[in-house]
Amino acid sequence: MPHTSLNLSVLRAFRSVLAPAAILLAAVLALAAGPALPPSLSGLKTLGPYLVLLLGTGMGVWFNRGRAFIGLASLLAAFAGYSFALEFGAASFAARAVFTAAAILVPLNFLLALVFPERGVSHHFNYRWLMLAVAETLFVAWIASAGRTSWSGTVWQDLLEHWLFRSPPTPLLGRLLFAAAFVAAAARARPRVPATETRPLDIGQAGALLAFFIACEWVDAPGAFGAFITASGAILLVSLLQESHRLAFRDELTGLPSRRALDERLHGLGPVHAIAMLDVDHFKNFNDTHGHDIGDQVLRLVATQLAQAAGGGTAYRYGGEEFCILFPEIRLADALPHIEKIRADIAAYQMAVRSDDRPKDPEAGTRLRHLRSPDKTLSVTVSIGVAEPDDVRSTPAEVLRASDKALYRAKEAGRNRVSR
Ligand code: GH3
Ligand code: MG
Ligand code: MG
Repeated sequence: MPHTSLNLSVLRAFRSVLAPAAILLAAVLALAAGPALPPSLSGLKTLGPYLVLLLGTGMGVWFNRGRAFIGLASLLAAFAGYSFALEFGAASFAARAVFTAAAILVPLNFLLALVFPERGVSHHFNYRWLMLAVAETLFVAWIASAGRTSWSGTVWQDLLEHWLFRSPPTPLLGRLLFAAAFVAAAARARPRVPATETRPLDIGQAGALLAFFIACEWVDAPGAFGAFITASGAILLVSLLQESHRLAFRDELTGLPSRRALDERLHGLGPVHAIAMLDVDHFKNFNDTHGHDIGDQVLRLVATQLAQAAGGGTAYRYGGEEFCILFPEIRLADALPHIEKIRADIAAYQMAVRSDDRPKDPEAGTRLRHLRSPDKTLSVTVSIGVAEPDDVRSTPAEVLRASDKALYRAKEAGRNRVSR
């Protein structure tokens, strides 16, 4: 039903931006409540941003997420540098120069990190990032000290008046880079396959850019720079946590919730539910004939079909070519028509697959998919075993075992069928 799937995607889109939106709101509230803060808490204004940005940068290293690390380290350097330069006065050349540099270099770093593939933090590639960071820091320090030392000259002072670099508040070049980086982040964050949700880190990049852009635009409002740069770091930090949760509870190949997610869900099930266990028929043969890569594609397409299960069913990847659909709150008799429809839909589904000369990089594959026509169409069938609680089995774990036994009977009886 297109109507419900539309609602579902709207709901998913809403859910995925919930955390960044809440953090931005918190920054606005903190800013509004700022003047009312008791003096004993005013240290929070400088300590808070450092705490969040340092913690986030550390977590980027810990989780080995290169993009988040580069974003957070850039924000940290921008905040530390600007705080330092403010010691010379907000109107000083040093403060203006560091602000201009931050408003240009932070979105530039985000953009570079988005353009290059994610390689993690510890990859040798990242020595280039380290070099870039050192180069940026030295360059900014050199410019900011113009006029103070004899070796940097005054040429930079004139440059700040150039229309590309002139504040207020965000220099034009900075705005252009913000726009480019935001478009790149949003393009990555858009939902792709219906079965898979967008990655929290992709949404986090876009949200963090937006928050830092607000920080730059509001730099003259007291406390706003600190509040929104903290929000920017917090958005990335939370998205790192969400991403690690997703890694634990989502299956990477199909985008469906994983077996671990199923185990957790089983604990929370009420006395009325139905469980369907699914297994792709003769899949070993299929792999042997068409290759493991095409087998993987077919598993993804089957998962996409399962994710659209009606009747309130949620599909999980149980493992290998086995899936499980959970119907909470309904009787088996009411779930059966939906289960039978899934079986028939999969059997009738002519899946368009591509041969294995596709690029190994999944992102490049997504891009090519729109350009290339499919090489061939294939189809598979599935066998399904179903069960619900009764007098002999009352717990969800027992029902799951019963549906697994029923699956065995479906195979015995000739496959491509539903058995109970
Ligand atoms: P049956 O109809 O009795 O289920 O036959 P089958 O060949 O599907 O059963 P079996 O359990 O012997 O083989 C399952 C095969 O599924 C083994 C393996 O080649 C394939 N498989 C499991 N996980 C994956 C995967 O992630 N990707 C691919 N391409 N194949 C997988
Ligand atoms: Mg199997
Ligand atoms: Mg099988």
